Amino acid sequence: MIEHNFKKKFGQNFLQDKNIIKKIADVADTKEDDLIIEIGPGGGALTEELVKKSKVLAYEIDKDLEEQLNNKFDKNDINIIFDDFLNRDIKNDLKDIKYNKLYVIANLPYYITTPIITKIIEEKIDVEKMVLMVQKEVGDRFGAKVGTKEYSSITIFLNYYFNIKKEFIVSKNCFYPKPNVDSIIISFSKKSEKYKVENEEILFKLIKDSFKQKRKTLKNNLKEYNFEKIEKVLLENNLPVDVRAENISLETFIEIANNL
Ligand code: SAM
Repeated sequence: MIEHNFKKKFGQNFLQDKNIIKKIADVADTKEDDLIIEIGPGGGALTEELVKKSKVLAYEIDKDLEEQLNNKFDKNDINIIFDDFLNRDIKNDLKDIKYNKLYVIANLPYYITTPIITKIIEEKIDVEKMVLMVQKEVGDRFGAKVGTKEYSSITIFLNYYFNIKKEFIVSKNCFYPKPNVDSIIISFSKKSEKYKVENEEILFKLIKDSFKQKRKTLKNNLKEYNFEKIEKVLLENNLPVDVRAENISLETFIEIANNL
């Protein structure tokens, strides 16, 4: 057990179970010339496995862990930046590092999971695979199917870029301090086939605007759009004109955007 004053505000529950730690590292399946971004190494339990496989670039917000982490690892294997991942210019941090494919691995506090994923997507970081541990319910949202209440714009963006897979549950007993709920490992693998999208900016804006107010119909959220063109695609897909965004699949959003 490491000596540390655990901070709730940073979501600090550190992994203790060696078997689980190895299993998580194996999901990423990285090679020696790949680079792993680890967000929140904490005491470095998972990091220890990651450095055996590939080069690591880690971001840790808690400066109290600086001495401990720097003593634990060889500077040739890992570069640890003690800062909030959300405030970093990631492309700039990556610019002097040579690697083949990029992976992201993180065991994250629930409140920053979506901002972190959004940042990676919006900054167009070319990630081969993300392996994220999240609270079990948060995991359900990422894998949500069209028509369910968890289905949201983030679900659609993730589906656009990645194949999403629920890997395995991690019991709360694997952590210290023990959290209140179990977690789940989810992997996001880059889709090899790209969708046929004429203008990504139009598509992304359409999706964001469509979910502006979830309770409203699509028509009400898209007042500034030429709705006749949208209506045509809805009818072709057997969707009612007063449909809500949560009932529209990624494929239909793409059709609408290509038609605008
Ligand atoms: N990876 C370690 C493990 O599995 O044992 C620690 C996981 S702990 C749930 C989350 C870690 O993320 C903590 O070390 C915390 O300080 C760090 N963290 C929280 N928010 C962060 C942020 N915005 N940027 C970087 N690190 C962050």
